[in-house]
Amino acid sequence: MSNVVMDPRPVARKLLARPQQEGVGAVVRRSIGRFELKHFDPFLLLDEFSVSSPAGFPDHPHRGFETVTYMLQGAVTHEDFEGHKGTIEAGDLQWMTAGRGIVHSEMPASQGTQKGLQLWINLSSGYKMIEPRYQEMNSEDIQEAKKDGVKVRVIAGEAMGVKSPIYTRTPTMYLDFTLKPGARILQHIPMSWNAFVYVLEGEGIFGNSRSLPVSAHHLLLLGSGDGLDAYNKSSKSLRFILVGGEPLGEPVVQYGPFVMNTQEQIDQTIEDYENYINGFEKARYWNSESTVGFGH
Ligand code: FE
Repeated sequence: MSNVVMDPRPVARKLLARPQQEGVGAVVRRSIGRFELKHFDPFLLLDEFSVSSPAGFPDHPHRGFETVTYMLQGAVTHEDFEGHKGTIEAGDLQWMTAGRGIVHSEMPASQGTQKGLQLWINLSSGYKMIEPRYQEMNSEDIQEAKKDGVKVRVIAGEAMGVKSPIYTRTPTMYLDFTLKPGARILQHIPMSWNAFVYVLEGEGIFGNSRSLPVSAHHLLLLGSGDGLDAYNKSSKSLRFILVGGEPLGEPVVQYGPFVMNTQEQIDQTIEDYENYINGFEKARYWNSESTVGFGH
């Protein structure tokens, strides 16, 4: 794979992610997965979430895709129906392949506001019913590269000579870039992949040196080309994520946290979930500790 960018991708579409209510008392800025942009193959959802106790995401299921949680501030405690439990702190990553089914809770781990990103990546038809799997990385284990005012944290894929150990069932790249004032980055993206930028802090010029600066909470869908050209023309630090993935090109039928290929499969999933079968067996007698406070 060449790292030379010959043909930078233009910005094809720009969306501002405005705050909305989700879960129980949580606020998310949803960019992918909202009415105007249902999916961006293979991505199903991108939330920049903000939760403070007692708000959170109590017991809920997932099937047919992966959820990737990357904490930006504070911490979230997760707990699933198999007894898998832990705390994701600022800078930590949880890459959860829900496959045939996970039921879990995601709740604030401490006082104050907990912030992070959650990305849903679709699984192709052959992998929707695989066994659930977790890949977790503490902040200090996420490799970084630094050069010429650019810092990258390599969550998935490869950048500036650093490669992530995360296995992406649906081929995906996920890079967290910080650019000092005046810094510029050219990052290769495979031609056939869909890719987007989500700005976290500051403002940057993306795709074309003549384009206007884009500020935090904006999602930029990139057009065709072999890479990203990003430049920090401002006097403050710029932080954004670049995410790319190989499109699956399959029908998407979604019912909340269940994402399959056909309506029939969704009906089956609801039946499986309600009857505690085909992967949801352990949900029968399980309630997360955090949910007890919700009076279930
Ligand atoms: Fe979840």
